[in-house]
Amino acid sequence: MNRYEKNFDDVLQRIEKARLEANEYNIIKIVAVSKYSDTDAVRELYSVGQRAFGENRVQDLKLKMDELDDLPLEWHFIGRLQKNKINHLLDLHPSLFQSCDSLELAKEVDKRAKVKGVILPTLLQINSAKEDTKTGVMPEVAKDIYLQILEDCPNLKLKGVMSIGAHSEDQKLIQKSFETTYKIFEDLKSKGASICSMGMSNDFELAIKCGSNMLRLGSILFKR
Ligand SMILES: *Cc1c(COP(=O)(O)O)cnc(C)c1O
Repeated sequence: MNRYEKNFDDVLQRIEKARLEANEYNIIKIVAVSKYSDTDAVRELYSVGQRAFGENRVQDLKLKMDELDDLPLEWHFIGRLQKNKINHLLDLHPSLFQSCDSLELAKEVDKRAKVKGVILPTLLQINSAKEDTKTGVMPEVAKDIYLQILEDCPNLKLKGVMSIGAHSEDQKLIQKSFETTYKIFEDLKSKGASICSMGMSNDFELAIKCGSNMLRLGSILFKR
């Protein structure tokens, strides 16, 4: 008996419903955030069809990638990246670095990537709700910084934006933060942006309504 099959089916159905209600016919990708779960849990979710997984600490990413390297998984890094971990992250060749949160970090990662001959698919993280507790670029300057990274950082393959919804009980506030992110994403489509990563366990339906095409789901998938 697979512990996660029912969670997974329920989530897929909720996504499908939200997608139809939003008249959204593009594919919405799920990244299963495994940071609170062990590798057995990842294997079980894999066996019901999940392929993309995300971790927020470089050490944990490495441990899970090593232990699960017999599976054809796609790994995303979604956490705060400290300078002293940049090389470690690059050595892991993640499928997507979702949490590039400043021009300074982008330049530093680009520099190291150049030395290693690595091209790193990357998203720019936006602090759309302007919260002190979150990293990410401010929405007013996000477009400029995105363009600057495109120009200055050839070893980052910038593919779009990532944001965490406002930390609030107020659905209106959360929605506003998603709309802010989506607007920036829309303006950057002409510059090649194709990924708008927003929506977590508590707010993914709202994120879909606001145009998300990549959900990062942890607790809702891995709960028992
Ligand atoms: C932990 C985490 C998630 C998943 O959170 P849940 O609420 O468990 O779905 C998504 N994105 C980021 C950046 C995270 O750190």
